[in-house]
Amino acid sequence: MTCNITPSLIDAVLGILTLNIQYGWQETELANGNTQFTVYGENLEILSKLENLIKSLDPAIQTILEEIDLQNPLDAWKEFFTPVECGSKFVVLPPWLKNDIFGQRIKIIINPKSAFGTGHHASTELCLTILSRLVETNSLNSGQNFLDLGCGSGILGIAAAKLGLEGIGVDIDQVAIDNARENRQLNNVKNLRFMQGSLDVTQGKKFDLIMANILAGPLIEMALQICAQIQKNGILILSGILNTQAANVDQAYQKCGLPGAQKFELGEWAALLWNNVIF
Ligand code: SAH
Repeated sequence: MTCNITPSLIDAVLGILTLNIQYGWQETELANGNTQFTVYGENLEILSKLENLIKSLDPAIQTILEEIDLQNPLDAWKEFFTPVECGSKFVVLPPWLKNDIFGQRIKIIINPKSAFGTGHHASTELCLTILSRLVETNSLNSGQNFLDLGCGSGILGIAAAKLGLEGIGVDIDQVAIDNARENRQLNNVKNLRFMQGSLDVTQGKKFDLIMANILAGPLIEMALQICAQIQKNGILILSGILNTQAANVDQAYQKCGLPGAQKFELGEWAALLWNNVIF
């Protein structure tokens, strides 16, 4: 399903996509200032519902819903899931490209299924860019522990585990947990567990690194509980935040005692970093 969206409706369409499509979509900025969104999927009913939701914003929006007629429908996905180089340290790629060569980059192999986190979304890329930056500044040490909150495909946890940290990924969605476990195996990482749930699973524990790529609303709601799980001198990365929401999220965490965050931006999206948190 493809649609062509004018700038004034981009936020609304992003809201619809975020709520309805867990595994990501393609965004292309067009020469006329519009943005083209493309969503791939196997379930026509879901894509048709999505098309109707988008058209309900403005019936004049142009959409195309088409079936890709390939003998092996998986091939359509294969064209979509190209490798993504994220930050200076990582490349995210699907299993069928795992032997391609990307210099010194750490490979994160993700089998694109229905969980969010193929590396194609800016919010994920921002987290991997920040992790790269933390490596460059020697801010991470092997053996430290981490929490990947809202792990989706497991992409961020796998990245941290490949850096030598050990940790846990949690997600409220069991489908995501199944996909994350499969991806853990593809990456052959041992120091990583996945559990269905949220902060309740890790209550009472403290982490040297917390990564949460969720959305501004839940991140604000969970601010106190997330802060309670940051280890002294720990690191917090929050993502899934639209640029326009970043100040609100930052403020919610400042109310819990953190200083102002360092902000990273990519297109419409922002991520916040607190390094060396001292309460
Ligand atoms: N970490 C991945 C996936 C992010 S998508 C990446 O960076 O690409 C966000 C994920 O958070 C979804 O899989 C969703 O199911 C999960 N999620 C949403 N609210 C949550 C909550 N309150 N606790 C735990 N997981 C949550």
